Amino acid sequence: MNPAPRGIARFLWHNEMHYGVVEGDRILGLVEDYDVDLTNHPIGTFDTLRLLPPVEPRTIVCIGRNYREHAAEMEADLPTEPLIFLKPVTSLIAHGEAIVYPSWVSSTVHYEGELAVVIGQTCYRVPASEAMRYVRGYTIANDVTARDLQRKDGQWTRGKGFNTFCPVGPVVVEDLDPADLAITTRVNGAVRQQSRTSQLIFDIPRLISHISAVMTLQEDDIILTGTPAGVGPVQPGDVIEVEIEGIGVLRNPVVAGE
Ligand code: MG
Repeated sequence: MNPAPRGIARFLWHNEMHYGVVEGDRILGLVEDYDVDLTNHPIGTFDTLRLLPPVEPRTIVCIGRNYREHAAEMEADLPTEPLIFLKPVTSLIAHGEAIVYPSWVSSTVHYEGELAVVIGQTCYRVPASEAMRYVRGYTIANDVTARDLQRKDGQWTRGKGFNTFCPVGPVVVEDLDPADLAITTRVNGAVRQQSRTSQLIFDIPRLISHISAVMTLQEDDIILTGTPAGVGPVQPGDVIEVEIEGIGVLRNPVVAGE
């Protein structure tokens, strides 16, 4: 039997940044020791080490309305080609870090659980047939959105761009078929979104081809592939979990902004 795919986490250890091999919530050892039997001497767990986002992107590309049922709940037409937008890298936070509710400008903040594609090497104008060779792996993201500002502005930079509005992690899994993975979002333990990545309107090769026709994608850049139906509001004090089969659980509390 093949072992379960192992994830790669990025974390602080003795005040330095490291990449480690993860099973469950245990960091078994450093990536450079991958071939050693790590099982019996974990460095620590997600609770005892300071996790960092598992990637250091220069560009965070997101896809809007890429699940039919979500497009319907937003009362939006089905797109005829992928709809892309960006989040700033300053919105990135790690598993466990707090989403700050920007109550000084917004009163409607929504979660959006999403599968994120991690780019492995620079690509530009890639045909869909060759796109997967530029993928390093997959992680989980929450495309946190100030829905009131998104609707008010008519474009999405402000509603999607707040600091802490892009939780990503906890790990990157490299050896994973993304075609049909269960994706679930829970708020305080209650299921709010439940779908499968097979329901994506535009698949990953198509997304990479479409985006790279516009901009160069570089190592560690991520593509948030869109969210299923069931988006809804959160409040300070809530805890959001996004779980994707084969990757794990991304958990972030929401705290009141000062
Ligand atoms: Mg989204």
